[in-house]
Amino acid sequence: MDTNVLTPQVLVVGAGSAGVSAAVAAAESGADTLLVEATGHVGGTLAWQLLEHSAGFHDAAGNQVTGGVGQRIIALLQSYGGSPGHIPDDVAYTATRTPVNHAELAMAEAVLLHRAGVTLMLNTAVVGVSTVDSKVAEVRVETAGSGGTVIRPTIVVDCSGDAVVFALAGAAVQTDRPGRTQPVSLLLRLGGVDFGPLLDHARAHPEDFRAGSRIGRPDEDHVNLWGFGALLDAGHADGRLSWRRTELHLAGWPTRGEAVLNVTRTVSGYLILANQVLETVAWFRRYVPGGANAYLSAVGDRVGVRESRRILGLRTLTQDDVLSARRDETAIGMGAFPIDVHDADAPGLSHTDGLPAAYDIPFGTLAARDLTNLLAGGRCISTTHEANGSARITATCFTTGEAAGTAAALAALGGTDTHAVDVGKLQATLRSRGVIGAR
Ligand SMILES: Cc1cc2nc3c(=O)[nH]c(=O)nc-3n(C[C@H](O)[C@H](O)[C@H](O)COP(=O)(O)OP(=O)(O)OC[C@H]3O[C@@H](n4cnc5c(N)ncnc54)[C@H](O)[C@@H]3O)c2cc1C
Repeated sequence: MDTNVLTPQVLVVGAGSAGVSAAVAAAESGADTLLVEATGHVGGTLAWQLLEHSAGFHDAAGNQVTGGVGQRIIALLQSYGGSPGHIPDDVAYTATRTPVNHAELAMAEAVLLHRAGVTLMLNTAVVGVSTVDSKVAEVRVETAGSGGTVIRPTIVVDCSGDAVVFALAGAAVQTDRPGRTQPVSLLLRLGGVDFGPLLDHARAHPEDFRAGSRIGRPDEDHVNLWGFGALLDAGHADGRLSWRRTELHLAGWPTRGEAVLNVTRTVSGYLILANQVLETVAWFRRYVPGGANAYLSAVGDRVGVRESRRILGLRTLTQDDVLSARRDETAIGMGAFPIDVHDADAPGLSHTDGLPAAYDIPFGTLAARDLTNLLAGGRCISTTHEANGSARITATCFTTGEAAGTAAALAALGGTDTHAVDVGKLQATLRSRGVIGAR
């Protein structure tokens, strides 16, 4: 039986990149803010799926496009020594990439949530939503071991990645036909890597690494290598690797002897990925110079879902908007990451379409079309399949989360609904918060 009833002004669902930004922004804007998260951590996919780095803070020309809470998180993390900050991306996805230590990132985000005055409920999943008169009326959550709670929020911000609140509320969502949905991966982190021989190998075999790869030094805190195709071929030929890849991404922290590897891939789920993880470690020990003593220090605590449900908003960001770097008078921020689409069946890593410049993200991409107190931030905002290949990147998730959280607070405190948000006021507030591109 449900025993508790909570009535926050803003409820944020999901404590990933978008949800942390949304909750910090809503609370700092003066709203009584509750953040619920299904797992036992804050940090979401970036922290706990062990992503190689946060990406998308700059466009290809080096102009910064993500500020606000995202930049504050990186600055705080950097001050703890948990990130080298924005460093050049030598293979030119964009101008920079931002390596993070995952556990330190999560702790830095928790510190910011605490400072902002956010109430946090961990191990708490949204399991039901009811609507009345085109509004979310109640959100039902279950906390592991503690039972259910009914939440009656003024405004809800869905940062669940999967548009869970929208789906449970019966609000309009978009999905792609199964064959077009991108494959899933499980990232792994190795410890005990000796970067001296590894980097010597990369220097001796430039043909096996992406053009422009900068081979770093063992005394540095970041290394970024796309390649190892010849060694992967050898592992596939001798049966150590059961699936074929022509390239892997290694994001290394040489002074810590650690490397995150992005190489597993399937459309069939966790048990297949787990097998690929162990095969990768065995392959690394056998074939990669400096890898003999490597061990599996961590795996992502979740399967990495690139794309699932997306909301259907008042506006939908399209491939054309992204590729033409379209300006929009309702912009709440910008994105600049290439359209990065991973094919389920191809052995190569991805196809990418670079952008000439940053594009604007219209406010309407965050607002439910058919409910008037429901917003979204992060990977599940209203985009087409192709546009999602850019907008899902974590720097952009920080931006859309912050905009949704700020809009939620303005609506809750101003007694308006999400369709009637004063976009000019929202943009001015976002600019004052350091968000870049809120025109
Ligand atoms: C394999 C892979 C590699 C990637 N590489 C990169 C990269 O190198 N750099 C980069 O910037 N981006 C990368 N991305 C993209 C990026 O990681 C995601 O798109 C982004 O992290 C999404 O952030 P988010 O805040 O929208 O969602 P998430 O970070 O996924 O957060 C959503 C949160 O909602 C919670 N949640 C879900 N359902 C419920 C519920 N019912 N109740 C309560 N809570 C719930 C989840 O537990 C989760 O913590 C990669 C993605 C994948 C899959």
